[in-house]
Parts: sequence; C-alpha cells; structure tokens
Amino acid sequence: MSEIPYKIYLEESEMPRAWYNVRSAMKVKPAPLLNPATLRPMTADDLRPVFCDELIAQELDDTTEYFPIPEEIRNFYKMYRPSPLVRAYCLEKELGTPAKIYYKFEGNNTSGSHKLNSAIAQAYYAKKQGLRGVTTETGAGQWGTALSMACAYLGLDCKVFMVKVSYEQKPFRREVMRTYGADVTPSPSMTTAVGRKILEEFPGTGGSLGCAISEAVEAATTHEGYRYVLGSVLNQVLLHQSIIGLECKTALDKYGVKPDIIIGCAGGGSNLGGLISPFVGEQLRGEANYRFIAVEPASCPSLTRGKFAYDYCDTGMVCPLAKMYTLGSGFMPAPNHAGGLRYHGMNTVLSQLHADGLLEARSVEQTKVFEAAERFARCEGILPAPESSHAIRAAIDEALLCRETGEEKTILFGLTGTGYFDMTAYGQYNDGKMTDDIPTDEDLARGFASMPRIDI
Ligand SMILES: *Cc1c(COP(=O)(O)O)cnc(C)c1O
Repeated sequence: MSEIPYKIYLEESEMPRAWYNVRSAMKVKPAPLLNPATLRPMTADDLRPVFCDELIAQELDDTTEYFPIPEEIRNFYKMYRPSPLVRAYCLEKELGTPAKIYYKFEGNNTSGSHKLNSAIAQAYYAKKQGLRGVTTETGAGQWGTALSMACAYLGLDCKVFMVKVSYEQKPFRREVMRTYGADVTPSPSMTTAVGRKILEEFPGTGGSLGCAISEAVEAATTHEGYRYVLGSVLNQVLLHQSIIGLECKTALDKYGVKPDIIIGCAGGGSNLGGLISPFVGEQLRGEANYRFIAVEPASCPSLTRGKFAYDYCDTGMVCPLAKMYTLGSGFMPAPNHAGGLRYHGMNTVLSQLHADGLLEARSVEQTKVFEAAERFARCEGILPAPESSHAIRAAIDEALLCRETGEEKTILFGLTGTGYFDMTAYGQYNDGKMTDDIPTDEDLARGFASMPRIDI
C-alpha cells in the first residue's frame, strides 16, 4: 500500500456506471408514502400528475439493487466528477489528532453543492418523457441553481419558487438561476391558490420550504407539460446521490482504507443518504461495521427531537404523507437560524435506519458550526457551506476525542458545498452577532400539533 495522496482522484473509467439503491438491502423497508385523501399507499398512478414516470418507478422500487446511469447523465457528470476525496492532512495537524480524516468535496461545480447530481438526473427523465419543463422550490438556493443548470443544458423550462427571505437576502443566487434561464418567483406568491391562502393567513411571512413546495406542486399540476421535481427528502434523490458514496468507496478501496466513522450533515437527508448508501449496504449484509452519524442544527432537530410518525411533507398538505422523523410541517426554525438544513422532516430511509439503531444522530448549535467552518477554512483552504460545516463540527469533535484516547480512527465526512453565497451568515459570526436559538419543548409542541392524527 502506497502513501495516501492529499487528493484521491478516480479515472473517468473508474466512475460508477450505476446508482445503488440501499433499500434493496434493508430488511425493514421504509414505510410507503400515503395518499393524503385515502391514507392508502401511493400508487404510480396517484403520483403521475405530479412526478415524471421514470422517477416514480425509482421512488417506489425497494428491491432493485442497481439502476444503470444513462450515458447522457454520465457525460454530464464528467464535467465536474469524479469529485475529489481529500485526505485532510492539514486539519489533522491543526487538531493534533492521531485520527485520519477524509472528506468528499461536492462543491466544485458552479451550483456549489452536491444537488447537481440529482438535478441532472431528474431533468433528464423529464426531457425523455417529452415534457416542456419542471417546477420546484428552493430555500437557500443551491437546489434551484443546480436545477437551472441542468435544465439549461437539456433545453427544459424551469420554474423556481424561492423562499421569500432567501429571495431577498440572496440576490446573487437568484441572478445565477436567471442567468441559466430559470423563472424565479418569491414564495409565498399570489401566483398560486395555496400561496394566496398562506399569505392571507400569515401576511408578511418570509415563507418556508414547505410552503414553496406546495406552490411548486400546484404550478406543475396546473401547467400542461410540467412536472414537479424535488432536490432532497425523496428516495429517488438518495438513489442519485449514491454516486457520492460509490466514488468514495472505489477511491478508498484503491488504498485499502476502511472508515470507522462516516459523518454527514442532514437536512432532508440526501447527501448523507447518498454518502452512506454503499457502506450501509455492506453493513446490512454483515460484511463490515461502520458508525454512521447524522448531524443536524439544534434549531431544527428532526432526528434528535422529532417524532417518528406519518406527516405532511409540505405546509400546504398537498404532497403525500411520509413516515419519518418530523417536527411537524407547521414547524418553522427561529428567524436568526443561518445555517440551512431547515426542513421539518427527514428522508424515510434515513428515518428507518435511525429507528433501527443503525444511524446515530446529534444536533449542534450554529455558533459551534461556524467556529468549525472557520477553523477548517483556515487550514484546508476551502470556504465551506454552513450546511456542510455541521459535518465538519462532528468530524472535528470525533478527531479531538481520538486525541484524548490516542485511537487512530479513520473518519470520512461529506463536504457538501461552498459557502460563497452565505457571507451574510459568516458576517454575523465574524461580528459576534450570531446567536443560538434552540426551540423549547413548547415551540416543538406547536409543530407537533400540525401533524395529522393517524395511527399507522
Ligand atoms: C441542500 C444542501 C444540504 C442539505 O440537503 P440534504 O438533502 O440533507 O443533503 C447540505 N449541504 C448543502 C451544501 C446543500 O446545498
């Protein structure tokens, strides 16, 4: 075995040719999505007015192990993949830890995050179905940007509902999307019935992801030739993001490296799910033993303080019900929460793995997250996204634990994106004005009250 380089690159020929579906290895499958009207499992026919046909097939498939990646998507991937797997020698030195730290960096494309991996796949299937365009929501803007890029490449129309606070606070994100040809509307808006209803009930609201989702779904079902696409939470997104974990495994296998701990930040769960999928598969088959850790913000703690139950995926309650760890679709994180990862629920696969004891979860306060981000930036050079920095925080904490115990653990974490569009949040931190807002049990109770009363 040779010395591990700073960056482990893969050849184009070593890139994965199929996505891995971790559900195929799960004995306890994630609970099915339910039709909110009938409370019966969603069928492909139920989903067809909203989603693209091929993506529905991927969403509902709990058994197929591998889905071949179509050549056109593989060619697009080649523009920015394989993404680098970095041995964090400088961070290890800075921490004085015997731990060996690796991170997979997904921010080296213009959209700045891993979301492009699924955006191109979803846009491809929409195009293949002969659709005119797609609609979606975006919070901080990474997903909208990624989807705009993918749609521009394939010649599809793209309508983005952007959470209003972000639309106002992140004008540059908005302009990147418009440059790629997307139509960007601040949400809630007067252009949909659900948007008008939310505005009537909460005038002056800055919006939320759940509310933007409801608007995007309505726009898809009321415009001929459009379908709705989603950048996280769904199992099809986890499937596409498995490219992250598959590349990691191929690269680490080349050097005979086996991680002890695999860490990812968790918003809706797609990057973490994609990163750990092939490793979870090994573990479920009894071939290996890893610790998996999900890291979420203390201000939006779905896995660590949420309920594992059926809930609405959106504020407007137009989407299917999912059984997941959730804070209730009515939950909104405190307005001074700057670190992203603000979705109220969690992907059903990750929720099931957590319920089964396979996936650990912890929450971290945002000042601790930005402290880790700055420390990382100063020694490793990359300016990380606040979301990604949740994983950095946990990786640093684990490495510091190794310094105390002298254990030479191997830690792998997902560095999902860059923080160039988050400088307002960095500014707050640098000015010492960032606060930690942890919801009280009463705050959470208000969110839980918005959940449907179903016993399944
Ligand atoms: C969207 C996003 C996340 C969180 O989404 P997941 O679906 O939980 O992966 C994390 N990091 C970055 C940079 C993002 O853009």
